[in-house]
Amino acid sequence: MKIKSVRARVFEWKGKTVPPQGNFCSNAMDLVYSNTESMSTFRFHSWTVVEIETDDGIIGLGNVALAPAIAKAIIDQYLTPLVLGQDPWDYEYLWQRMYRATHAWGRKGVTMAAISAIDLAIWDILGKSVGKPVFKLLGGRTKEKIPCYYSKLYRTNLDEMQAEAQKYKDQGFTAFKMRFGYGPAHLQKGVAENLKSVEAIREVIGYDNDLMLECYMGWNVEYAKRMLPKLEKFEPRWLEEPVIADDIDGYAELNRLTSIPISGGEHEFSLYGFKQLLDKKAVSVVQYDTNRVGGITAAHKINALCEAYSVPVIPHAGQMHNYHLTMSTIASPMSEYFPMFDVEVGNELFYYIFDGEPVAENGFVQLDDNKPGLGLTMKTEFLDQFNIVE
Ligand SMILES: [Mg+2]
Repeated sequence: MKIKSVRARVFEWKGKTVPPQGNFCSNAMDLVYSNTESMSTFRFHSWTVVEIETDDGIIGLGNVALAPAIAKAIIDQYLTPLVLGQDPWDYEYLWQRMYRATHAWGRKGVTMAAISAIDLAIWDILGKSVGKPVFKLLGGRTKEKIPCYYSKLYRTNLDEMQAEAQKYKDQGFTAFKMRFGYGPAHLQKGVAENLKSVEAIREVIGYDNDLMLECYMGWNVEYAKRMLPKLEKFEPRWLEEPVIADDIDGYAELNRLTSIPISGGEHEFSLYGFKQLLDKKAVSVVQYDTNRVGGITAAHKINALCEAYSVPVIPHAGQMHNYHLTMSTIASPMSEYFPMFDVEVGNELFYYIFDGEPVAENGFVQLDDNKPGLGLTMKTEFLDQFNIVE
């Protein structure tokens, strides 16, 4: 079997959107002076879809959401020539070719996301070529079904947040992640607002359900040090990305300081990035995203690393490419779950592009033992609502 063609297309959403409020989540831009709320323009409204076709007619699907147009350019100009005419079963060789050929300017960020998209399509081909789901090629089923946590609860008014939590609690979710709206720039008033929002959600979900707290890199070490003692009484399952991804020593300091597990990794890349996080005990929960970290070839190795360090892996964003990794290792106890909503930030766009994405039932998602590859196909229902760049 040989790779015959690689096609990367950018799907730009031009349909209806529901803008969330400007401070729906604290973020790294909060520390930079601006006249507008920093999240008011933060959107993931396009996605790059990669289709790799083999000489025997199998088509593998991959995707990348980080800087889609740039990812497409990297795929078209640099990565495609490295995999054309090659045997997809040589996936490790192909991964190393892509990683090392772009090493001078790649390594992390959008280049690794572009490599991830190719790697995902290759694994989809491998599964399809032997009639097995990808998780069966990685270790198989380690769980009857995958427990997942509800992930949205953007900061809005507290009544709306409570109603949202109640609705998904009623649907059977037993774990919930909420976003803080405020960081250091919002002074003591923001501290109080953050605490009020945690209290409001705990009021709805009680203490026999899990609560995860998301900072999305919007705090700094000093602010986190002030917040953490105040948050301990709410018994969060973890505090996510308190500081920017490069501040690994900051993560390590916070993780030492508090009984609250610090989580992170959705903005970290490759086996080496995670070895560094684990060596420094910077995070107590690892949250790579398979379509950023280097694809399934890299994520599978990171799973093994986390198993050896006894640190749980709970991949960022749910989505099919992550569920296969979660299913195939006992290092991964659960998945994140982005529900399908009208298009807001863009976390939900995956559902509009692909068919086959599992829908949570009673707080669990299931993978089919008999669906070959990743189990996704292109959706036609919303095609006219995208501008597609070839
Ligand atoms: Mg996150």
